[in-house]
Amino acid sequence: MTTPVQQRLRAAGLRVTAPREAVLQVLENGQGGGEHLPVATIAERARRALGSLSTQAVYDCLEVLTAAGLARRIEPAGHPARYEARVGDNHHHLVCRSCGETADVDCVVGPAPCLSVAVPAGFVVDEAEVTFWGHCSSCRSAPPAPGTTPDHPPATHTASIERNAS
Ligand SMILES: [Zn+2]
Ligand SMILES: [Zn+2]
Repeated sequence: MTTPVQQRLRAAGLRVTAPREAVLQVLENGQGGGEHLPVATIAERARRALGSLSTQAVYDCLEVLTAAGLARRIEPAGHPARYEARVGDNHHHLVCRSCGETADVDCVVGPAPCLSVAVPAGFVVDEAEVTFWGHCSSCRSAPPAPGTTPDHPPATHTASIERNAS
């Protein structure tokens, strides 16, 4: 019997291996909840399915899956990379400055690329990757931990302080 994950690996021209299957399955399971998973979490969940799996093997799988277009890597500056199985739809991300929590934002103005920019003659844009920075709801309600205060107070934070003061 062939599982959907095995079919996707084959359709992408990849050899089906137990680690690749487990890693892709973890990403697909997380997609339902809109999860963008750091490598440590992917490794932990894949190990639950496989028994043992080195972190290096997880990195190798993610590399192969990303190159084959089955996974997408999001690299928010200052935070570890995260991976997801939602690919090819040119969606964007909201990233929390404090905890790195990442959420999807759909393309706001139609099909990709969704931003109209002035580009030099001859340059053809085929993708737009936008990161919206701010603070997630749990970080906004928690007191800031020492040492994690961002250099620049984010707009969302400033706005909420002003609202509370008035
Ligand atoms: Zn947060
Ligand atoms: Zn995403």
